[in-house]
Amino acid sequence: MRILVTNDDGILAEGLWTLVKELANIAQVIVVAPDREQSAIGTAVTLHQPLRIQKVKPVVPAVETYSVEGTPADCVILALGKLIRSKVDLVVSGINQGANLGDDVLISGTVSAALQGYRRGLPALAISVAAVDSPHLGNAARLAALLAKKTSAKALPTNILLNVNLPNLPLAEIKGIKITRLASGTHTDVAEEGNDGKRKYYWLVRQKVNKAAGENTDVWTIEQGNISITPLHTNLLNRPSPPIPDSLCYDLLQELQKDEYR
Ligand code: MN
Repeated sequence: MRILVTNDDGILAEGLWTLVKELANIAQVIVVAPDREQSAIGTAVTLHQPLRIQKVKPVVPAVETYSVEGTPADCVILALGKLIRSKVDLVVSGINQGANLGDDVLISGTVSAALQGYRRGLPALAISVAAVDSPHLGNAARLAALLAKKTSAKALPTNILLNVNLPNLPLAEIKGIKITRLASGTHTDVAEEGNDGKRKYYWLVRQKVNKAAGENTDVWTIEQGNISITPLHTNLLNRPSPPIPDSLCYDLLQELQKDEYR
């Protein structure tokens, strides 16, 4: 098995190397990661400047490792398109320090890197621990290795994008593992104003919305002390659009054509 590992916390992040150390026991691992922290960069792809890649000394011995002056999505695109000539079986992104739950998946660099693997037909995992400080990384790394083994044993569908989040608890205190759905409306982003003595500045901060997370959502599941595994897909619609009369398109075309000859 060959696994591409990346992240959004940057190539020096402890979470990345804890993950690599565990995965290297069961697979050939190649690391292609951003040269600096890229958290909350979302799906950004660098189209307007060149991308530089550097082969660097790995933290875990004998793991082929590249540092990329780009986004997490760039890393996966370069890795799968240029750097790795052999077949890759799985893309794993993480271990992120901090949860990626609910609406956060839309801005998460961790999830977006996995998304690039998924879009190229590979099974992909994004894995995060719900703590920025002192996260229990070992549980997440072992779980990633177990999921990797499941994909290689064909015990999971091949076209999967799994967003895995662990509560920051020692293993003995983790209640279980649940398959969940994304919570929605979990945060709002607000601008806080300050002044540095010369000019006004703003910090964008995330505020938790004061509403209980729905049952079986990822947020709820983590709050209960469980590990959450959310299968994601890229169709953002979860219900049919409101009905639009068939005649609308016809009418629009008619109007357009009328305009043209006015
Ligand atoms: Mn991050």
